[in-house]
Amino acid sequence: MAVAGGIRIVDLAKELKLTSQALIASLHDLGVEAKGANSVIDLETANTVRGLMEAAPAKQKIVEVSADATLKDLAEAMQVQPNAAVKKMMDLGKLIAPHQRLSRADADQLASAYGYTVAIKAEPKPVAAAHHKHKAPGGALQSRPPVVTIMGHVDHGKTSLLDAIRKANVVAGEFGGITQHIGAYQVEVEHNNEKHKITFLDTPGHAAFTEMRARGASVTDIVILVVAADDGIMPQTVEAINHARAAEVPIIVAINKMDKPDARPDRIKQQLTEHLLVVEEYGGDVIAVPVSAKTQEGIPDLLEYILLVADINEFKADPHGHATGAVIEAKIVPGKGPVATILVQSGVLRVGDNVVAGLAYGKVRAMINERGERLQKAGPATPVEVSGLNLAPAAGDIAEVAKNEKEARQLAEKRQEKARNSRLSGQVKRLTLADIARQAQDGVAKDLSLIVKADVQGSVEAILGQLNQITEENTDEEVNISVKLSGVGNITESDISLAVATGSIVIGFNVRADAATMRAAERDGVDVRHYNIIYDLTEDVVRAIKGLMEPIYEEIVLGRAEVRQRFQTPKGIVIAGSYINDGMFRRGAEVRVTRGKDLLHTGRLDTLRRIKDDAREVQQGYECGIVIADWTDVQVGDVLECFEMRQVER
Ligand code: GDP
Repeated sequence: MAVAGGIRIVDLAKELKLTSQALIASLHDLGVEAKGANSVIDLETANTVRGLMEAAPAKQKIVEVSADATLKDLAEAMQVQPNAAVKKMMDLGKLIAPHQRLSRADADQLASAYGYTVAIKAEPKPVAAAHHKHKAPGGALQSRPPVVTIMGHVDHGKTSLLDAIRKANVVAGEFGGITQHIGAYQVEVEHNNEKHKITFLDTPGHAAFTEMRARGASVTDIVILVVAADDGIMPQTVEAINHARAAEVPIIVAINKMDKPDARPDRIKQQLTEHLLVVEEYGGDVIAVPVSAKTQEGIPDLLEYILLVADINEFKADPHGHATGAVIEAKIVPGKGPVATILVQSGVLRVGDNVVAGLAYGKVRAMINERGERLQKAGPATPVEVSGLNLAPAAGDIAEVAKNEKEARQLAEKRQEKARNSRLSGQVKRLTLADIARQAQDGVAKDLSLIVKADVQGSVEAILGQLNQITEENTDEEVNISVKLSGVGNITESDISLAVATGSIVIGFNVRADAATMRAAERDGVDVRHYNIIYDLTEDVVRAIKGLMEPIYEEIVLGRAEVRQRFQTPKGIVIAGSYINDGMFRRGAEVRVTRGKDLLHTGRLDTLRRIKDDAREVQQGYECGIVIADWTDVQVGDVLECFEMRQVER
């Protein structure tokens, strides 16, 4: 980008094949202070740097460290005291502890401050077996679109910003109405007279982000941290910063709602500094872009900055060979079966490929993009909704192409077996619908995972439709209902096995489970629920997610007796000598005492005696002595009723 009378750091860095940070550090050594990637230096200085760089290569010292090097590792590799390196980083505006891992940008910055260039030691990356075999030999890395996630505090405008970006700055005419929500989308932006793609993950939510990371999927290259200009740094903003830091991805701050009269962007920048996000004006290198999702102000700048950060970080992937990717979201769609949005991360995914995704497998039947267009193939950083899997995988699951159907199935089955074993050994808890309700009461985010079996396809579709509706109507319950498998037919042992592996509850609608299946369910602690009215089913699910599944107790009458004698012991204990007319009396149960029409008392049956011995139960047709806890006003002729409260299934 040409700038009158000077050149931007980022442009010069690109020309010199340096990162902006490395260039800023070199300028620092020359006594020129540049504030950030976007600041401008005069042409004379630029020429000096060009001259130095041309002379430099021969003298350039290389320091080799692993990709996960800490500050201490790098310092020691350069034979510098770690504490001196910490101090140096502080001078460069970054507080990094010796044991902290360095991002690539920080490593470059620190190394160049000591006159080194960083080379990352090549380490064999562990790839899944199936993928490994098919990797094209010598596959060259090529640059790919950056993958961006928007994070921030609730109501600061994550969703609005995603919508605004979708609508703005896309190449005119090419993108019509976006019809599908598939969990991710791409926009095409003009930058330096070239068209560039950016992939956005359309799943705002920190939990999803962390969950995916926990499952080993690193899907995001850049985090956009949204902060409302009329508000400030809030708890979830801090949480987002921490998540982004943990994932070691660069952060771009979008100061949103700039259209509001009470927008105070400077205050936000100040607050950001307290969280070690130092923007350019304060001498740091964090990019903060004022935007308004409402008026679209600043959106083109934001997109441009994303591309700049992408330029600096040089995101690359191997576009050859069989694909690997990550599941962004997955669900069962009525009429379509399981669909999963897969973000291809390397290689090419094609229709007809045999794919394993988490515990699911299948042949890719069709792929669509966010505009509902059918694709035959998809390369790195492309999100596609894939149909053809046998069940819905989980967000964050790794997806990869197998050699053939058999290999895909075997791999998926092996994973199922492993998941099953780890649940059975108690490493992961199995849940019942009542557990979900309890979690809901405790305010814990709930994942309700279901396997749905029904008598006919029509019922399956109706249930799926109802479950979707429940999710839509209960967005504030923070519940995630995911159907892992749906199908027609009785509940089988293989459903139970899958339920264990996926932590699911099995729902049967107008279907049966044979004795062996029920035994398996009982043995493995799987909650199997039978329904024959859809309303009952949906009501149970709603109750569970609202935490309303408190158990129902029902009174069970055990027996009746009449009092024929009254005894009192010297210690004042009153014994009702009674005859059991029907049923039986049990020690510990409840007793109701009525005299004529009056209910006099309800209390616990404390002692039960047959002749002189304590008894646990006394049956119909026998006489016995009964002591009712804390009650002595018994009379001959009183009627006693023994009952219990039992928890019953809803
Ligand atoms: P999220 O919870 O972070 O996804 O926030 P939303 O995108 O749902 O936005 C929360 C509220 O702020 C909504 O009422 C939006 O209309 C409003 N909002 C979002 N961005 C802007 C903006 O740039 N300007 C104004 N005035 N309002 C905005």
